[in-house]
Amino acid sequence: MIVVTGATGHLGRLVVEGLLEKVPADQVVAAVRTPEKAADLAERGVDVRHADYTDPESLVTAFKDADKVLLVSSSEVGQRVAQHQAVIEAAKQAGVRHLVYTSASRATTSKLAVAPEHKVTEELIEASGLTATILRNNWYNENYADTIKQAARTGSFVGSAGDGRVASATRADYAAAAVAVLTGEGHEGKIYELAGDVTWTNADLAAEIGKAAGREVTYTDLPADEHAKVLTQAGLPEPLVGFIVAIDGDIKDGLLAETTTDLRTLTGRPSTPIGVTVAEVVGTL
Ligand code: NDP
Repeated sequence: MIVVTGATGHLGRLVVEGLLEKVPADQVVAAVRTPEKAADLAERGVDVRHADYTDPESLVTAFKDADKVLLVSSSEVGQRVAQHQAVIEAAKQAGVRHLVYTSASRATTSKLAVAPEHKVTEELIEASGLTATILRNNWYNENYADTIKQAARTGSFVGSAGDGRVASATRADYAAAAVAVLTGEGHEGKIYELAGDVTWTNADLAAEIGKAAGREVTYTDLPADEHAKVLTQAGLPEPLVGFIVAIDGDIKDGLLAETTTDLRTLTGRPSTPIGVTVAEVVGTL
């Protein structure tokens, strides 16, 4: 049995879809905190089990008879260490043979704002003695969906990432890599740095949005404090403003700029360029 946690999330759903192309549905477990959200998967024969990262007993039950578990990192930033620890302990208790975890680029050494919780999780996995594979995902192209929509409508966007480059790929690319690891062999003990083949800057993003929207789109780079003011004036909550500005600072510092071959080696195809995602998002307007 292959268990996918967070299977009702964007990435988890794509992983389940990819698994269903390779293994029978009754070998796939969608471990989710809200089983009703996975009713469509249950109808297709997927074993939907309740699994809440804050409810250790639910995790042990959800991992029963699991050979492999993909722990999709929690979206509850700030709570993740305790939640992931519960998953790791449950995997041990349930006798899981192979744990796969979605981490962040260079998580154990990077100053990236999101790295600390992933670093501790990787250390907990290591200390657990479980056989594991770490999938260190770079940024998602889809993180820019709102920026793309707004810029396509107004002709401009702001940020504070300077000329920093991003080696992003789509969630579908990262999901395909996870499926390759979950259904393939020889991945035990490996740490994969998964990133897009091509890096881009906010100026490049502006050009792609302009091309897709058929209008001129300009990117204005701001000092971090001014960027924060603009986001606050737009009504974003303070923690989100801090997060966005911190990530732009990280991008400016080159922390998401590393391209690697791990992603395309696992998926067997090039990563999806940001321009393709831009065209898709603009096409929805
Ligand atoms: P989503 O927010 O779409 O999915 C997160 C999943 O985590 C959801 O299925 C959610 O369940 C589940 N979850 C949250 N809290 C709990 C809990 N207490 N118990 C069980 N499940 C829980 O994120 P994505 O799929 O887009 O991304 C996957 C992960 O990757 C994120 O959670 C985050 O850690 C990380 N990430 C990476 C980014 C990158 O650019 N590399 C960007 C953003 C996030 P439910 O469906 O019930 O809400």
